[in-house]
Amino acid sequence: MLKYLSPNFNDRPDGIAIDTLVFHYTGMMSANEALKRMCSPQAKVSAHYMIDEHGQIFQLVPEEKRAWHAGLAYWRGKININDRSIGIELENPGHDINYKPFPEKQILSLIKLAKEIIQRYHIPARNILGHSDIAPTRKKDPGELFNWSLLASNGIGLWPETDFMNNNDAGNLSDFESNLRLYGYDTSNLVASTLAFQRHFLPNACSGRIDIQTFLILKKLIELL
Ligand SMILES: [Zn+2]
Repeated sequence: MLKYLSPNFNDRPDGIAIDTLVFHYTGMMSANEALKRMCSPQAKVSAHYMIDEHGQIFQLVPEEKRAWHAGLAYWRGKININDRSIGIELENPGHDINYKPFPEKQILSLIKLAKEIIQRYHIPARNILGHSDIAPTRKKDPGELFNWSLLASNGIGLWPETDFMNNNDAGNLSDFESNLRLYGYDTSNLVASTLAFQRHFLPNACSGRIDIQTFLILKKLIELL
């Protein structure tokens, strides 16, 4: 791990435990450019870590300090997500430039780092999130190419296995919104939050529409809680 310390942080408020882990992509042309931006006092953004596409980890902000990565956000009734989270950026140009798969070396470094953080703070699987999960109207990162299933098989986050052949128990579609809220999303824009949910849990079907697969995956997830 290399230190590349940023001036963009402040103290966490007293009495709030770290209980959330948020993954991002940088959305910039290069790792260098992203590091510079996260160290620019004018930009007022940062994260605790950035992992470049070769798997090199940079630490920008000490974990005990509050990094500025979440912005306007919401999860499970909480809005001050920077107060209680660790933020990890992954080098990737992102949807607006040239969104591409995350290289294996990068993901292996992420798995190692995330596991340590989860153990250190006992972060619940349900609070391991993408930026788009906590800011669905503003953000797409880390996006549908981020392999949540692989992470879950390494003990990072939840991943529901659903047998779509057995979908007689579809239930009431109107339950979808309340289930989505129960899981943690801000559903005030239901299309945006449905799309964020799909980017995370149904990466091959990111439509923003509440179809039967989306409904069943969420139902399964609620059963895991
Ligand atoms: Zn982000």
